[in-house]
Amino acid sequence: ETSSVVVTTDPTTGRELARYDAMNDASIDHVLDEVAVAARAWGRTPLTERRAALDSVADRLLAERESVAALITAEMGKPLREARAEVDKSVTTARWYARHADSLLTPTPVDVGPDATAWVTHEPIGPVLAVMPWNFPLWQVMRFALPAILAGNGILLKHSPDVTGSALGFEALLERAGLPRHVFRTFVVSERDVARVTDAVVADDRVAGVTLTGSNRAGASVGAAAGRAAKPSVLELGGSDAFVVLADADAERAAEVAVRARFTNAGQSCVCAKRFVVAAEVAEHFTEAFVARVRALRVGDPTDDHTDLGPLARPDLRDVLQRQVDASVAAGAELLAGGHPIDGPGNFYAPTVLAATAPGMAVFDEETFGPVAAVAVARDDAHAAELAAATTFGLGLSVWSGSRERALDLAREVTTGAVFVNAMVASDPRLPFGGTRRSGHGRELAAPGLHAFMNQRTFWAV
Ligand code: NAP
Repeated sequence: ETSSVVVTTDPTTGRELARYDAMNDASIDHVLDEVAVAARAWGRTPLTERRAALDSVADRLLAERESVAALITAEMGKPLREARAEVDKSVTTARWYARHADSLLTPTPVDVGPDATAWVTHEPIGPVLAVMPWNFPLWQVMRFALPAILAGNGILLKHSPDVTGSALGFEALLERAGLPRHVFRTFVVSERDVARVTDAVVADDRVAGVTLTGSNRAGASVGAAAGRAAKPSVLELGGSDAFVVLADADAERAAEVAVRARFTNAGQSCVCAKRFVVAAEVAEHFTEAFVARVRALRVGDPTDDHTDLGPLARPDLRDVLQRQVDASVAAGAELLAGGHPIDGPGNFYAPTVLAATAPGMAVFDEETFGPVAAVAVARDDAHAAELAAATTFGLGLSVWSGSRERALDLAREVTTGAVFVNAMVASDPRLPFGGTRRSGHGRELAAPGLHAFMNQRTFWAV
């Protein structure tokens, strides 16, 4: 295989889907020019037009919902039902930004006394590079691109090679929605060239900033490039979120939601609950209810509406998961369900529950990006907080308790970008989303997601 070809594969069957020519340096340079020119014009377009573009994108996504979802499922294996939900969430987000465009972007007057007038505007900054992962091929892109379109910026997408068909498909869809040509463009880059190309693009004078969703390794590399170029960056990295069930929680309800929180998208989400910290008083009740529901999950063909879990997106993801499970069992974790790949074609992995996990074990210390749940028992609330905080990540925390105050007391002991009480962690266009510590920095969605890549410009006039 030469480095200039990108091959996509259906993870359900292992069969090749398509081949794409990777772009060479000259074509990347050409795309940069086109986006820079388009972004300059787009940034001067009246707000009413940018707002209208979001509604057209929403309309187009709804009209093409089935084909968009089918391509996502073919390229990365999530149940079609969940792929459709990605489209719906993108539509909701487009509508939210359209509805709030005026209040988010109207210049803010500031009282500086009688001798002068001052105000602050939000202005576009130009093309922003977006490096994105395969796990939510549409949503990850739209969560950044929709506010960027409203801001009047240009978008350069470097998507995961696994979902190249989707990436090019979204570019074409946005054009069909009436977005001016070249405001949104995709780079097709082979994995071998990705670090070199992203470094060069981030450093390029035509590019104003970079956002990345992906692993810590990729985040560190892109963050360093942004630092060298002195350009803004938003990094949405990994997570190993705790789902804490306190002694006074509704253990049955917690177990029901815990299954969704862990096994959505076959566990391949940064905000999936990964470590289940359960008070000793309810540990048996919770674990039994949880394991029963995990055993009932239907694994199989993602195009079947009754399927709960499809395959993992790539074979190497399954290998990593198996290593983490094996190492944890060797270190004393107790296997209650799954723990093995499923025979046959496709990267299927049995939904897995490990009990008696603790710091020092791979499933506790590392991010598990697949259908593996780690359960740990806590003596009391202080111990639960200590276990929840025993991670280098800090994306979202879910706490279950009969008392909101008690849950919030625990949350104060753990640093994360979000806290959900008696609910699972999820992103929502109305609320900022992002991490602390090794889960990254900066925020997406809501007002911060829009303003992250805008110039907050101060005016003072006498
Ligand atoms: P990944 O290897 O980091 O890939 C993500 C993207 O970064 C891909 O487009 C990848 O391209 C690119 N990339 C990798 N190395 C790079 C480098 N040195 N310079 C520039 N770009 C680079 O992540 P993954 O394994 O596909 O996805 C799983 C990880 O993403 C997990 O850790 C997960 O938690 C994290 N994630 C986080 C969020 C969040 O919102 N916080 C959401 C989803 C996923 P190539 O594939 O060509 O290398």
